[in-house]
Amino acid sequence: MARRGSRHVIFSFRPTGRGREVWRRFMPSPEDHEKVLRDVAKGIAGGRWPLSEVFVYDPLFLRVLSGFNVKYDRVRACRIGDYMDIDSEGNVIPCLFAKAIRLGNILEEDLLKIRREMLENVLLTSLKSPDNLKGKCSSCKYEWVCGGCRVRAYELTGDWFASDPLCAYLPD
Ligand code: SF4
Repeated sequence: MARRGSRHVIFSFRPTGRGREVWRRFMPSPEDHEKVLRDVAKGIAGGRWPLSEVFVYDPLFLRVLSGFNVKYDRVRACRIGDYMDIDSEGNVIPCLFAKAIRLGNILEEDLLKIRREMLENVLLTSLKSPDNLKGKCSSCKYEWVCGGCRVRAYELTGDWFASDPLCAYLPD
């Protein structure tokens, strides 16, 4: 049982940064990944952990959680392009894991200008709409809730819009 006020933050695997070098050895199978997400969802649904104290940074988790009838107030888990992350060298990226999209550098450019350009970025605008997803994500009833991890799709397939290779779910 979690202590009141404590938080559990779970980042699932992204083949980016150092993860890119080791993903062949450490990336779980879609089935194993599903099992971990289900175990966490089961713990929340059964009252073992309050939902407010467990943060799972993986779009797939919202789909798994919805199967346990747990109400979640976030519409879509993937926030790529909705916020900016700044790394230790000042590079601005549109998601903690999206190192392949460098929007600018705050040591060289104005942050507001970078933000303005991010909001007009065609790739990021397209990624926000599930209508642009491909593969099984395009016909999945969870596309507006989940939509898959766009970074995982890009890093493992070369296509930002491909379905998430770590998803075990098979749409009807
Ligand atoms: S098919 Fe795509 S949208 Fe559906 S659950 Fe899997 S990753 Fe999410």
